[in-house]
Amino acid sequence: MFEKILIANRGEIALRINRACKEMGIATVAIHSTADADAMHVRLADESVCVGPPPASQSYLNIPQIVAACEITGAEAIHPGYGFLSENARFAEIVQEHGITFIGPKPEHIRMMGDKITAIQAVKDVGIPTVPGSGGAVTDADAERVAGEIGYPVLIKATAGGGGRGMKVALSAADLPLALSTARAEAKAAFGNDQVYMEKYLQRPRHIELQVLADSQGKVIHLGERDCSLQRRHQKVWEEAGSPALNAEQREDIGGVVTRALTKLGYLGAGTIEFLFEEGRFYFIEMNTRLQVEHPVTEAITGLDIVREQIRIAAGGSLEIDQKDVSFSGHAIECRINAENPFTFQPSPGTVTQFHTPGGLGVRFDSAIYAGYRIPPYYDSLIGKLVVHGKNRNECLMRLRRALDELVVGGIDTTIPLFQKLMHEPDILNGEYNIHWLERYLAGRPDL
Ligand code: ADP
Repeated sequence: MFEKILIANRGEIALRINRACKEMGIATVAIHSTADADAMHVRLADESVCVGPPPASQSYLNIPQIVAACEITGAEAIHPGYGFLSENARFAEIVQEHGITFIGPKPEHIRMMGDKITAIQAVKDVGIPTVPGSGGAVTDADAERVAGEIGYPVLIKATAGGGGRGMKVALSAADLPLALSTARAEAKAAFGNDQVYMEKYLQRPRHIELQVLADSQGKVIHLGERDCSLQRRHQKVWEEAGSPALNAEQREDIGGVVTRALTKLGYLGAGTIEFLFEEGRFYFIEMNTRLQVEHPVTEAITGLDIVREQIRIAAGGSLEIDQKDVSFSGHAIECRINAENPFTFQPSPGTVTQFHTPGGLGVRFDSAIYAGYRIPPYYDSLIGKLVVHGKNRNECLMRLRRALDELVVGGIDTTIPLFQKLMHEPDILNGEYNIHWLERYLAGRPDL
């Protein structure tokens, strides 16, 4: 097992990884920008190294500095968390070239899944169902013909996509030129690549994703699904495990498809296969070759520590459990608490004046903030994840309602009031929502 791990991230996920390391008796190294010198992830790690100025491009994405930090401190492995360098295949390769272990999948799989076109082709070849679509990048000249074949409405998506950017719907042929040009412009600005592809635009799907773990002995297991249908601008806001829309048989079926597929691919580490789910059918949209923000809901219902498993797998260990040992207990929900205005979603950086976290049975709050902490304006606005577990969905909802009422974050705007409102919506209480529900709710109720 590793003696020392460098955590190439910040915020709540850096704390999350630090916790797993501590429980495994592994020393930790934090990295930070000059803006994060007093951050909690720096305080809780055994050692820390400043890797650059505030902009992420010069610090948390600064590969030479991060590798040097490893060498200076003698860290044997790097955990990248999510975001930043977590899905950068070149980073994984460079780390390995320096004799450091990258805690994540093989670079070839990161690269394969990082490009939407090669990802779709690869998963199709191993039996995963995909969305009807162009199957490859389209030129403007091809687009009308392809759209005619798939049938409107169609979705134009960036091949380099991520974070919901570079995605535009065309309801009819008349919308197509504008949808293409805006998707391309957005993709160019966000990823420096204006290639796009097309998919059938599903009208009422849920977003359901499967968590998998694979070890170097070739064992692949799945830990069930998460339902991430509550989204704003294609960004997840609230996640559940399991999905209110899936029964045990459907879970087992799709779990079997996914584990067989990843076995064929020779996948290693933790990963998430994302699907849209409509009228009982699954359609692959992408695979994330990293730890997900919403992994705690899966931990809550399986009792497994996913970060610990990632570390054990990276150290060459085998999964201790077989698929038959994975059991699902109760229901879990995560609310992403962002430093944003709950009505306009404008970021609200500033100083946290008061901070009180909820507690009690079945309540987990993953966060890196504290009273007096000044949230820097340079990074994303997630400041905490409230994760609640109950013996069934109803108990979970009741517990979530009281936990939200206990949570106090003073001095800045947060999304807590949005979740408090959602707790009174019959569709949410009944689990009857799809990926468009939240946008429509927000548009119809501007005052919330
Ligand atoms: P990104 O990598 O940018 O997050 P994804 O392919 O994962 O892009 O899609 C993000 C979200 O966009 C999905 O969760 C879903 O809400 C929506 N979406 C993606 N593809 C489709 C589709 N074919 N039809 C309808 N909605 C879609």
